[in-house]
Amino acid sequence: MLISGIQKMSLLDFPGVIAAIVFTPGCNFRCGYCHNPEFVLPERIAEIRPSFIKEEVFFNFLEKRKGVLDGVVVTGGEPTLMPDLLPFLAKLKERGFKVKLDTNGNRAGVLRAAMDAGLVDYVAMDVKTSMDEYLNLVGNLASAENLRESMKMLMAGSVPYEFRSTLIKETHTPEVIADMVALMTGAQRVALQTFRPGNTLCAKFGDYHAFSDDEMEAIRQQFLPVAGEVIMR
Ligand code: SF4
Repeated sequence: MLISGIQKMSLLDFPGVIAAIVFTPGCNFRCGYCHNPEFVLPERIAEIRPSFIKEEVFFNFLEKRKGVLDGVVVTGGEPTLMPDLLPFLAKLKERGFKVKLDTNGNRAGVLRAAMDAGLVDYVAMDVKTSMDEYLNLVGNLASAENLRESMKMLMAGSVPYEFRSTLIKETHTPEVIADMVALMTGAQRVALQTFRPGNTLCAKFGDYHAFSDDEMEAIRQQFLPVAGEVIMR
């Protein structure tokens, strides 16, 4: 599998698990606020391609960290675009690592295959905005049908998961937030993420604003009655 970067250890990205993070190149969305444009835009990917990490080098690294690392987070870009994602996840599981998959949820079939094969221990799916606003925020490749299917699958399944949303003052109006609360009603865990301006995929988002701590808490209060757990990060 193509690996565009790794983070050798994280205590924060995989709940309860000390994990390495693997980044995959390419994405089917174009979120203006994306903080990893070098893993999304083909011209930026081409620039870093010489520094891609060979799969065998990554697995050698993991072998040496056995006993220190318990898991691996596979993120992007959008990992479900990788044609050999499932065999890669299977290799991680064979080696005894727990696997967290980060996804934008647009390739519901790949998510289903990974879950059905028992290859994921935790899934973080972005729920970026209301369904009405999705195309405006992420570009026209988003499929409401696929996103809803992924959400439904996670909510009905047995794999622990979270829906995560980065909230931006200019795009997440009270109406949008209300729609998102309805969309995520019944969720096991919702993670509300504070927007960080700077190094954004689309320049205009660099001037957009984060909600204050008090505003984020007020939004969290709206989600609390409808989700099992609501965290902020
Ligand atoms: S935020 Fe995620 S889904 Fe959006 S463009 Fe960046 S990597 Fe893709």
